[in-house]
Amino acid sequence: MTAPQQAVTVLGLGQMGAALAAALLDRGHPTTVWNRTPDKAAPLIERGARAAATPQEAIAASPLVIACVLDHGALHTIVDPVADALRGRTLVNLTSGSPEQAREAVAWAGSLGAGYLDGAIMTTPPGVGDPAMMFLYSGSQEVFDTHRPTLAALGDPLYLGTDPGLASLYDAALLGLMWSTMTGWLHGTALVGAEGTPAAAYTPVAIRWLTAVAGFLTRYASQVDAGRYPGDDATVDVQIAAIGHLIHAAQDRGIDNALPELLRTLMEKAGAAGHGQDSYAALIEVLRPAPGGPAA
Ligand code: NAP
Repeated sequence: MTAPQQAVTVLGLGQMGAALAAALLDRGHPTTVWNRTPDKAAPLIERGARAAATPQEAIAASPLVIACVLDHGALHTIVDPVADALRGRTLVNLTSGSPEQAREAVAWAGSLGAGYLDGAIMTTPPGVGDPAMMFLYSGSQEVFDTHRPTLAALGDPLYLGTDPGLASLYDAALLGLMWSTMTGWLHGTALVGAEGTPAAAYTPVAIRWLTAVAGFLTRYASQVDAGRYPGDDATVDVQIAAIGHLIHAAQDRGIDNALPELLRTLMEKAGAAGHGQDSYAALIEVLRPAPGGPAA
């Protein structure tokens, strides 16, 4: 005998909300859905979802409500007029937002008598339901522990801590990492492409290189935490010379160099601050505010 699956409501059936509802249905969760544009529920109804006519009816249908809409403003537009319906239920908010918005949302949900967990989805809709994909959560540990088995239907649930702003903060940091990495890959793709190498040939080599880069990050993380950056593997001065080769090679082939120029500027700033013989990790000193300087 297996226990019946938890009933879940999904508010918002855009690309991501629809994928969340589909993953819950695939795992056998009785799933109620609502969307501002009702037509988007049709494919999910075919897969066994129940469509609610109003947000109030949707919230009332399940003890656990998962919201995934454009932004916090849209969430309030949907929920505020029917806020009483949330009393005694739990809202897991997978709508992207800022750490400050997540903290406000906890207070708001608390004032309604609702449990609240903030989350961030570290995949695109086709990755939803894949246990290799991370879903970040922060806020109440109790709410997370209670609903973890259900949240595991969406991807690997990773709990970051009781500060509800952490999921959004990590989300922003990880997206920054993704954009920098993807743009660096595209810049390299343009460079090798200028000599006739297709992206599909360059990319497996680039991915092997990323494995080595992951090792650098692990080593440099302890340097950043210690505040000491021994340049015993490669110094900032050596990297300034090396990035010059990249900039020249790309310039000669007419490729936009905004990204490597920015990186060289940061390296030179670190060098000018006395970190020329330190490791690349010393760039953290020019990125974060100086002690006593203006806080974000
Ligand atoms: P989307 O396809 O554009 O869907 C947006 C959803 O928000 C729709 O359900 C839309 O309803 C609803 N909405 C927008 N404004 C509204 C309003 N004023 N009142 C009521 N409902 C409103 O976007 P998405 O890709 O699903 O993204 C949803 C959230 O997931 C965003 O916060 C996004 O940052 C996050 N996310 C997305 C991805 C991704 O790869 N797509 C990855 C990670 C996180 P209608 O259908 O009626 O327009």
